[in-house]
Amino acid sequence: MVIARNASASGMVDAFGRHIEYLRISVTDRCDLRCRYCMSEKMTFLPRDQILTLEEIAIIADRFIARGVKKIRLSGGEPLVRRDFGELARRIGRHVKAGTLEELTLTTNGTHLAEHAEMLADAGMKRINVSLDTLDPALFTQITRRGDIAKVLEGIRAASDAGLKVKINMVALKGLNDGEFLSMLRWCDAHGHDLTLIETMPLGHIDEDRTDRYLPLTIALEQIAAEHEVAPIAYKTGGPARYFAVDGMRARLGLITPLSNNFCAGCNRMRLTCEGKIFMCLGHEDHVDLKTAFREGGADAIDALLDTALRLKPLAHDFAIGPGERPMSVSRHMSVTGG
Ligand code: SAM
Ligand code: SF4
Repeated sequence: MVIARNASASGMVDAFGRHIEYLRISVTDRCDLRCRYCMSEKMTFLPRDQILTLEEIAIIADRFIARGVKKIRLSGGEPLVRRDFGELARRIGRHVKAGTLEELTLTTNGTHLAEHAEMLADAGMKRINVSLDTLDPALFTQITRRGDIAKVLEGIRAASDAGLKVKINMVALKGLNDGEFLSMLRWCDAHGHDLTLIETMPLGHIDEDRTDRYLPLTIALEQIAAEHEVAPIAYKTGGPARYFAVDGMRARLGLITPLSNNFCAGCNRMRLTCEGKIFMCLGHEDHVDLKTAFREGGADAIDALLDTALRLKPLAHDFAIGPGERPMSVSRHMSVTGG
């Protein structure tokens, strides 16, 4: 069932006047990879009965859209390992086709993208993000602890062939991929992709000390600027990246810098976890439990909780990484909240 946007809904505005128009949904906390900065080697995943069903996610998405959400990103964990993912994408994608949702998109590690690319385009997706932290096959396996880069590259090709615009996400990791920013940008440019670099954030236990791997993106920008003129541009995708044009390239360069230069003032996002909790900020523990309310009170219970969630949205996260800093501000992994 497609619910038309409620014309009388005033939209969702938080206590600081920010319009909340962007919902990220983690459809599963499970993943076929174990990226070193994201998960520990021996991850314990949530029991299946704690995870929202496809039907529940679809109904909750309907309510968010009726309240003014214009863009939904499906994430995880790895969304494409969820068996009923295609059905969910089609359900939410109907809103795009009906004009009640401006954009439905996806963040994926790409390992199963080749099988799903056509389905994603059919569901109404126009562009997706694929995570790729290196072009070196051995380093890829090392960072992901098990991945095969050939599958990801095949997935990216299939997505482009299906007409999807692909943006590459690369987490900057000191001592691992910090010599590859320029080569990755050149590869993206040659293949028609934009590139977003991301600072590693202190989310969840990961077996390693994050301080050792944290690299401020000012360093990446300096490396690129040593070879190409780089200039800020007004381009926006609705997410937290700041974009730059790079002289001689079509590829845009995005920087996500939660640590070195936070972007909270313009935050327009809410996150629905795979367990059905709404987190208003990746960097805070405050949340509302939509799953319990929905299972006890039905869809009408969702609206009241959305208002509570809006009141909870903090002004800014308080992430910190570095010697003398608290080691971590949030115990949840990114895979539960949805990156
Ligand atoms: N599995 C999918 C993927 O890797 O694209 C989607 C989920 S993943 C959690 C979403 C994004 O978050 C990826 O681009 C990943 O590199 C990034 N990410 C994961 N943990 C992170 C962390 N601690 N700090 C910064 N980015 C992180
Ligand atoms: Fe899986 Fe994505 Fe986390 Fe890597 S970043 S372990 S692919 S959820």
